[in-house]
Amino acid sequence: MNPSKLRKQIIETVIAFNTSGLSVGTSGNLSVRTSQGFLITPTGIPYLQLKEADIVEMDLQGNVIQGNLKPSSEWHFHRDIYQAREEINAIVHVHSDYATAIACTRVDIPAFHYMVARAGGDSIRCAEYATFGTEALSQNAVKALEGRNACLLANHGMVVLGENIDSAYQLAEEVENLAKQYWISKQLGEVVLLDDEEMNKNLEKFKTYGKQ
Ligand code: 13P
Ligand code: ZN
Repeated sequence: MNPSKLRKQIIETVIAFNTSGLSVGTSGNLSVRTSQGFLITPTGIPYLQLKEADIVEMDLQGNVIQGNLKPSSEWHFHRDIYQAREEINAIVHVHSDYATAIACTRVDIPAFHYMVARAGGDSIRCAEYATFGTEALSQNAVKALEGRNACLLANHGMVVLGENIDSAYQLAEEVENLAKQYWISKQLGEVVLLDDEEMNKNLEKFKTYGKQ
């Protein structure tokens, strides 16, 4: 995709964070891999004000290579994920209500629903707490994302990875929905979890799901 189209898509998607309720205000951020590194939203700018030139380009060493604004305070985890995961081309970070509420209890979302496998494993892990915008938070996120495309961040929110912006955004919506359904199930009583054998079947099925 040409750079201008990519910048447009970034802006449209972060505006959708607000309109869909995935994030309020300037909470959250989004990046997409480029040939030189990655494009990332600037820190603290309301999404409706964003112009294409405001999107910052960084290299994988963490230097700003294009743009006049400061990059997202979370550029460390965006950079570290692109370095650790070569199949990943887009990263969404949001503070959606249910995922964040569960992250504040610092538990993993277990295999309560087959769709948990959509995030790549038999749970959606909650990364250990670290202060926002730090290298420590980045290390905790990369660890919680091992073999997975989504994790919670303790007392903070969630991080979701994708092959492109659309798939990362859709998985973020799915993770938020799962967090909501898990929370509701917990209110009703003991939640019955799917066992390893069943989750392995689901993981296998998702390898071809939706491919025509
Ligand atoms: P930025 O505006 O710096 O991207 O910060 C938002 C956020 O969610 C920090 O964790
Ligand atoms: Zn955040």
